[in-house]
Amino acid sequence: MITLSYKGKNTFLEAVNKKSGSDVLECYQCGKCVSTFPVSNFMDFPPREIMQMIKLELKEECQMANSTWFCLTCSACSGRCPREINIPAVMEAVRHLAIEENYHPDSKQVKNIRKFHEIFLDMIKRYGRNYELRMMAEFNIRTRNLFKDMHLAPKALLKGKIPLGVKSMKSAKAIKKMYEMADKLEQQSK
Ligand code: SF4
Repeated sequence: MITLSYKGKNTFLEAVNKKSGSDVLECYQCGKCVSTFPVSNFMDFPPREIMQMIKLELKEECQMANSTWFCLTCSACSGRCPREINIPAVMEAVRHLAIEENYHPDSKQVKNIRKFHEIFLDMIKRYGRNYELRMMAEFNIRTRNLFKDMHLAPKALLKGKIPLGVKSMKSAKAIKKMYEMADKLEQQSK
């Protein structure tokens, strides 16, 4: 049975709103975000539908949808939202809640996206920036697809598109501190 959630209850909607700092209930389904979504062709549900699913407490469906994991946080959608909903923050909130709850999706595609996120964030934490070569290698190892896109590597290396090494950013220490502070705030908000 589908139950419409309402404010004041500790629901999925409330959790998403709290985490994102937005109010999903403000969405009136105009669909403006759908037409601006750069990766909408690859998504199973456009943001408008994700908003509705959150209102309907369809938590697992939201977590399973590749849309919430595909979101590039480019903010093209929220720029056009007449209700000023921070749609990327909402998508991120759904992802974070899924990770916090240790949700393991069945979909291989979503699993891989989740791994990609983890590796990317780890690179930023370590070096203060992305280290593409290491990221590619770790991703291929963790997804057990060792030779994925390997044919592109020589060309990219020769053209200098992928540097062999990485220099940590000067601000790497400060970024690490930011991660630690975010972790602390996360713990306190639980
Ligand atoms: S643009 Fe905003 S109000 Fe319109 S459907 Fe998308 S999220 Fe809802």
